[in-house]
Amino acid sequence: MSSNDCIFCKIIAGDAPAYKVFEDADVTAFLDIFPWAKGHTLVVPKNHWPNIFDIPDDDAAAVMRAVRKIAPALRDTLQADGLNLLQSNGSAAWQTVDHFHMHLIPRWAGDSLVPPGHSAPGDHEAIEATAKKLSQQLSD
Ligand code: 5GP
Ligand code: ZN
Repeated sequence: MSSNDCIFCKIIAGDAPAYKVFEDADVTAFLDIFPWAKGHTLVVPKNHWPNIFDIPDDDAAAVMRAVRKIAPALRDTLQADGLNLLQSNGSAAWQTVDHFHMHLIPRWAGDSLVPPGHSAPGDHEAIEATAKKLSQQLSD
């Protein structure tokens, strides 16, 4: 399943260039050409699912299997100190390519990346209310 106007579908099909680093029956991985860091890698299912709300369990599992294989290889190849996984869904959440993908972003102690948000002590009543609503939804 693919989409004609999707750059990642074109890369998967070999119709657009990419620095591919891994492929199996279900996923392709290639380097991001606008990287946040050296070695920034994208893992994508070969099927075109827009986001986490659409992707079926088997393709999601295949992506995570590949991530688990590529992460230590990236760390060892680039002597990274750590690695962020980032996965965005919807433009409100920064998604710019509507083909599900996982970012692997190698990190080094003292590098220039900064957290995208900031944390502060939460309102426990509000947290508890959200937990109740969500757990109810999940048990329906
Ligand atoms: P998103 O913002 O949707 O989470 O991530 C999309 C990513 O795809 C971005 O990091 C962007 O740099 C990358 N990207 C966009 N177009 C291309 C392309 O043609 N080739 C590659 N390799 N990466 C791309
Ligand atoms: Zn696609």
